[in-house]
Amino acid sequence: MKLYRTELDKGISKKLFDIDTNQFQLDELDFYENTINGELSAERSSNGYHISGILNIPFEQTCDRCLTKFHNLRSTEFNFWLTDKNELLQGDSDDILYFSRDDNEIDLKTLFQEIILLEKQMKSICNESCKGLCSSCGTNLNYENCRCSIEESKDDSWEPLKNLIDK
Ligand SMILES: [Zn+2]
Ligand SMILES: [Zn+2]
Repeated sequence: MKLYRTELDKGISKKLFDIDTNQFQLDELDFYENTINGELSAERSSNGYHISGILNIPFEQTCDRCLTKFHNLRSTEFNFWLTDKNELLQGDSDDILYFSRDDNEIDLKTLFQEIILLEKQMKSICNESCKGLCSSCGTNLNYENCRCSIEESKDDSWEPLKNLIDK
């Protein structure tokens, strides 16, 4: 998505936008919709422009416990500044971007990609109460009970008797 200097100079107030998720083709990212939508505002500031807004990211994730795919819509706010003042870029702040006086537009794709990657959760659980899969038979315990735990305890109770017979 591109912002033009002419728009920035006029100021942008809560403009709605859609970005094609195909732009963010990264192995570790899946989306359940074709677009990421958001809202963006921009205003002039003393050293350039201040940009702020929201991204609504439709993550499709796989649960670490039950291996089922689930939808995880994350809304994240962003805030950054565009400037041509080199002294402001010295620190390692990620939210100050260089925007040369000669440039008439800036592409936000890389910045949005970083925001999306940061927003993706390391831990991926469909629901805090997810029971996961049975380690013996693989049944998804959220939907049905398997007989593994019942049979295991039955076996245990016969164990002393079996020992007697063997001897
Ligand atoms: Zn799960
Ligand atoms: Zn089982």
